[in-house]
Amino acid sequence: MNIAAHIANIKQSILPAQLLVVSKNRSISQLQKVYDTGVRSMAENRVQSLLERVAQLPADIEWHLIGHLQSNKVKYIAPFIACIHSVDSIKLLETINQEATKNNRIIRVLLQVKVAEEESKFGLNPSDLIALCNKPLLATFEHIAFCGLMAMASFTDSEEQVASEFALAKKLFDTVKPAMGTNFTELSMGMSGDYALAIKHGSTMVRIGTAVFEY
Ligand SMILES: *Cc1c(COP(=O)(O)O)cnc(C)c1O
Repeated sequence: MNIAAHIANIKQSILPAQLLVVSKNRSISQLQKVYDTGVRSMAENRVQSLLERVAQLPADIEWHLIGHLQSNKVKYIAPFIACIHSVDSIKLLETINQEATKNNRIIRVLLQVKVAEEESKFGLNPSDLIALCNKPLLATFEHIAFCGLMAMASFTDSEEQVASEFALAKKLFDTVKPAMGTNFTELSMGMSGDYALAIKHGSTMVRIGTAVFEY
């Protein structure tokens, strides 16, 4: 199958969710081929590789950052980033709001919530997420659009466990949504190994690398 048909199949199978092609570790020519099929949303997990790709690929790609972000690197991506999926602290929100203001932009963010059983350094615990979403301070971040949540399931063969983690993410999404305003519509979850299950549990945006490029 050619890559255009392959990507069309993935897009069809996740409807109405959106496909975000994860570009990490792929060559520019691989990414250009994906672009040529019509894909205009791509995601990187590191700021340095994101900046390299932005410089080498067409300007109409909407770029998402899906990996951990340090406050001191926000300034490099603030001029162009479409959406930051990995926001897990007030400090980071303050910096994003400042840099978005300087660039006269509104930056979309997703709050990353920790639902996996396995230890992970990044993401908010469910109780911290709920507390954060109820802080009046959020309303002062005028250059941030709070667009939803991002979650990652455990890397495990247990479908039951992955399903329960996605179900928890969806429950948290529904819990905090009323406090978060009308932009809060996205639930970013699902990768190559688990995106069908993520879709079943309410994902609106899947982040797929391997299944797009290795088929
Ligand atoms: C790499 C990565 C993905 C995509 O993983 P694949 O298994 O290659 O589809 C999705 N989300 C995040 C945060 C990643 O770092």
